[in-house]
Amino acid sequence: MERGLRVGGRVPVTRAEGPGARYALWLQGCSIRCPGCCNPHLFEASGGELVRPSLLLAEMASVRNEIEGLTLLGGEPMDQAEALLPLLHGARSLGLSVLLFSGFTLAELRGREEPRVRDALAAVDVLVDGRYDASRPETERLWAGSTNQRFHYFTPRYSPAIERPAPGEPLRTVEVRLGADGRLSANGWPDLSGGGMSSSHQRTGSPRPSR
Ligand code: SF4
Repeated sequence: MERGLRVGGRVPVTRAEGPGARYALWLQGCSIRCPGCCNPHLFEASGGELVRPSLLLAEMASVRNEIEGLTLLGGEPMDQAEALLPLLHGARSLGLSVLLFSGFTLAELRGREEPRVRDALAAVDVLVDGRYDASRPETERLWAGSTNQRFHYFTPRYSPAIERPAPGEPLRTVEVRLGADGRLSANGWPDLSGGGMSSSHQRTGSPRPSR
């Protein structure tokens, strides 16, 4: 039987969660709980909704011509490494790149006993690792929330060029969309005030209703 993933939110096509247009998936539940995390509503592992990976893959396939990759954020994606595996493999089969944000460092993940964690890492193109440190806000690199976080390029699909904005491109982006139910939701950099960066390891807030 297919194992479900606890999902806190998803956006089928976004340009605010990694290079190019991407399917963004926020996993529900985080065992790390960094002070200052912008997604505390994703902490509870029992929250969100249980979704079959096959359904998520069908959604990705339906927008395949519009996206170049899958971005996994949280919450902590690696807290659900086992259930994540079919999704990662399915995304690769669709020819999508995989960008994963984890609050664990690469060394911590490689030190874990569970083979599923290593298997999940093997299906990722780029890992952005490390806890969000509110005392070290990132002000130069795209996608990272604090300066301690590191990009790890496991395949040739991307290079460190993705960390730098193109000329004229803003460092931070927010997308606001109107849902079929008439509600507005936003994802991307969560602080529109310009005062302080209440970000998290995943850099961005999950798609929360703004009204
Ligand atoms: S920043 Fe990431 S790892 Fe840290 S508490 Fe928030 S979701 Fe968890």
